[in-house]
Amino acid sequence: MKNFLNTLTLTIMATIIVGCTSTNNTPIDVDSIVTEMQELYPSANHDIMQRGISQAATLWQEEDGTAQEFAQFVKDNYAADDDARKTLFDKLSTAYEVLLGATNQVAVALNLPTMLTGPEPIELDYIMSAFDPFSHMTSDLFENKVAFITILNFPNYTLDEKNTLGKEWSRQEWAYARMGDMFTSRIPADINKAVGQANADAENYIAGYNIMMGKLLNEEQKAIFPEDMVLLSHWNLRDEIKSNYAPSPLAREKQEMIYQVMLRIIDGSIPQEVINNTTYQWAPYSNRTWKEGTEVTLAAEDTRRYERILAHYNAMKQVDKYTKQAPTGIIRNFEVDVEMMPQEIEELFVNLVSSPQVKAVGALIRERLGRDLRPYDIWYDGFKSRSTISEDQLTAQTRSKYPTPEAFEADMPRMLVALGFTIDEANYLADKITVQGARGSGHAWGAVGRWENSLLRTRIGGEGMDYKGYNIAVHEFGHNVEQTIDLYDIDYYTLRGVPNTGFTEALAFIFQKRDLKLLGYNQQIDANTTLDIFWGLYEIMGVSLVDIRMWQWLYAHPEATAAELREATMAIARDVWNSYYEPVLGEKDSPILAIYSHMVNSPMYLPNYPLGHIIEFQLEEHFAQYPNSRDFANEIMRIYRLGRLTPNHWMQQAVGSNVNTTPILNAIDAIVK
Ligand SMILES: [Zn+2]
Repeated sequence: MKNFLNTLTLTIMATIIVGCTSTNNTPIDVDSIVTEMQELYPSANHDIMQRGISQAATLWQEEDGTAQEFAQFVKDNYAADDDARKTLFDKLSTAYEVLLGATNQVAVALNLPTMLTGPEPIELDYIMSAFDPFSHMTSDLFENKVAFITILNFPNYTLDEKNTLGKEWSRQEWAYARMGDMFTSRIPADINKAVGQANADAENYIAGYNIMMGKLLNEEQKAIFPEDMVLLSHWNLRDEIKSNYAPSPLAREKQEMIYQVMLRIIDGSIPQEVINNTTYQWAPYSNRTWKEGTEVTLAAEDTRRYERILAHYNAMKQVDKYTKQAPTGIIRNFEVDVEMMPQEIEELFVNLVSSPQVKAVGALIRERLGRDLRPYDIWYDGFKSRSTISEDQLTAQTRSKYPTPEAFEADMPRMLVALGFTIDEANYLADKITVQGARGSGHAWGAVGRWENSLLRTRIGGEGMDYKGYNIAVHEFGHNVEQTIDLYDIDYYTLRGVPNTGFTEALAFIFQKRDLKLLGYNQQIDANTTLDIFWGLYEIMGVSLVDIRMWQWLYAHPEATAAELREATMAIARDVWNSYYEPVLGEKDSPILAIYSHMVNSPMYLPNYPLGHIIEFQLEEHFAQYPNSRDFANEIMRIYRLGRLTPNHWMQQAVGSNVNTTPILNAIDAIVK
């Protein structure tokens, strides 16, 4: 479900604002260059000129030339009037589209053996798939001065400036401002490497965090899980809790035991040797361990989890020195990448997790379970869409309809027409999407140059596409339609794409929910689907709040040890729990919200998940005004042609309000009443 285009553009064109000061022996005298240029060009826009010169000066380093050479560079490369600036913009846009699009094709091609179905990849295939053809592009463009020409003429604006000044900007001014996001820092290669190392170490740590469920014993020293069951923390542990909402004799005991395991993972009291190791039996309540029937004492994992988080932090602090206007990892993640302030995101989330709707849905779950709620009921999984058609029936249908990727591809125009697109629009969009058989569960890899197709990768078994695979393929199809509209139909190349990951996820969710309609059923969006999304939001928003607050705590305590970080993270998790979860689920001081593995391997990524659903419900509420499917399709095209504005500008122009949780809360009200 990962959207490759966004990951890609974020890495290549890290929108980090302004880097280190010049290391020239004679410092650059920005003021006198600006004065001289203003005298030379009295009618030029002096604010833009001042920004461009000072931002370029900030990035200029000794190897780029002397202070005098910088002054000459400015004179030689300043586009003084509107026509010259527009000509320069067009030429740069074309050049970047060629460079980024062609390099994207290299990445696509090198990844084919590992990503698509076919012969088993050999070692070389894995090496080539890890090769990053973008990795030297930024430094090359600084070296030949194209990056400086860009920033000199198309300076960068902060999020706050984009949100305020941007209200008055024309599309062209927005396009110019987005070009100003391309080159805003020069992070030395060894520091990028340190960041990469911290990421790789955290990935490995998480990838090896398996719990051997068959080795877990209750206090009667009995195993309650199947002997060969291995669950990766935390995702598979969570999914096992979810699957035990179906009635079975040991369901409650299994859920309670997994909860206990999670508590020991969070506080580090889990014996290190029981992780990813079948040698020992472990009783997670009393924390006793045995080897071949003899009780043994094992050392606790202790602070390893928090050491991985600290390693990210230490790498981030090195980057901070080179991004002076975005001087923390928090600012870079939220203000620069997501383009929403962390306070704004916290307010959105708190608004939902403290809502009366959460209490009402909690009461509904208590009634259905017939017992008081427990902390792990944040993963309650009983809101299932009650379709009259069984999954087996659906699978029979999708298998015969889609025996191959080509069959799905050939059917895309019909699906788009069913959603309300005209046959011409449907053919136009479908022509730009290629369907391929994936090794994994599937993903959508967007095009970058306007000669490429975006790629819909989907898993098709030997007997054809089963219903689960079809449901995911329709999700990816939504991504591909977004990727096509806001690349091919966009007025300025630098405005291609969406404000952040949440905006492409929203359209993918909107398509996915209509999957039965595309199979020819008269599908209504079922109340259970909405309740399921809402309860999922309640859980993930709490986890996101813990993640955000942990990073804020770290930046406020730069000397913290791993043990101090553990105490602080647990205190934050308990505090969030006691404020917004204990009133619904009970049990004071549960630290369960700190269990997410993303906190360890993807710093500050969690808030992207709830944003996708918040945006989805804002769009759905808007589309509900257009019961005619033709209008629905028109609105999708109008809205996704907005391209990469900031989230709030995009949403204002899409539906007339900022990003907010009112539509999802309204949807719950309508159900609970
Ligand atoms: Zn997705």
